[in-house]
Amino acid sequence: MHIESSSSPGTVWFVGAGPGDPDLITVKGRGLIERAGAILFAGSLVSEAATRWAPAGCTVADSKDMTLEQMSAWLIEQAGRCDTVVRLQTGDPGLYGALIELVQPLDAAGVAVQVVPGVSSAMASAAAAVESLTLPEVTQTVIFTRVEGRTPMPEGESLEALASHHSTLCIFLSITLLGRVTAALTAAGWSSDAPVVVVHKASWPGEEKIIRGTVATIQGLCREAKIVSQSMIIASPTLGARQWTILAKSKLYDTSFTHRFRRASVPASNLTLESP
Ligand code: SAH
Repeated sequence: MHIESSSSPGTVWFVGAGPGDPDLITVKGRGLIERAGAILFAGSLVSEAATRWAPAGCTVADSKDMTLEQMSAWLIEQAGRCDTVVRLQTGDPGLYGALIELVQPLDAAGVAVQVVPGVSSAMASAAAAVESLTLPEVTQTVIFTRVEGRTPMPEGESLEALASHHSTLCIFLSITLLGRVTAALTAAGWSSDAPVVVVHKASWPGEEKIIRGTVATIQGLCREAKIVSQSMIIASPTLGARQWTILAKSKLYDTSFTHRFRRASVPASNLTLESP
């Protein structure tokens, strides 16, 4: 059995800062910043939240020029002198955030660790574009992935293999490799007019851009718009559903569907309804 004990007085909280809009941090995350003795934040994206709510006298540092070893040493040192140490990361700390690499040295040093989830850029991008990542009878599955860059993809996780499910793909860290993304979609049988949306700086006040295209056009459109960083690529058969005239309604809200809180009011019917 793994027994958790800590020898250091402070706890290091890994807090998801959300996708960019400082208002999209959780209430819990903001409360931790407000009582933090030290904050280590990850680059420009989250500096705003850190500086807006940090108390006077709080030690605030940017990790952008630190190695992982320097970051864990910094966190261990701060946990030795204050109760609440915050490691502020973009989106959710459990997605492409080097969480475990930082937690392991803290565990070894006997420092208590907690994680506060955050709004991932995948969710913020879908929200910005008013898109649903799942739709009844279209897809009920979302895959969070990336294409291979310096970090190799494990076997069976090539984008082509994942795209062959024809479910929703939220593709992180890949905007500079958009050509590879569209080639993988094509190889997996997506048609050239299948919709793709790219959201740049989702939720950033005044900086968000939404580029809508298709497998055939999205790369050119992003090039024209000079989008080369901080972007989410969403490929999904659900995209554009706001304009569809035929939509299978969610069974949860259908009058024929009985669930825990409501009895069906009409007999089961064909659930494919025409919207007005
Ligand atoms: N933990 C983060 C992801 C960090 S990896 C999260 O949950 O969102 C960094 C990648 O996330 C970027 O390359 C980009 O693909 C995506 N990303 C982060 N912030 C974004 C934003 N505001 N808008 C669009 N994509 C974003």
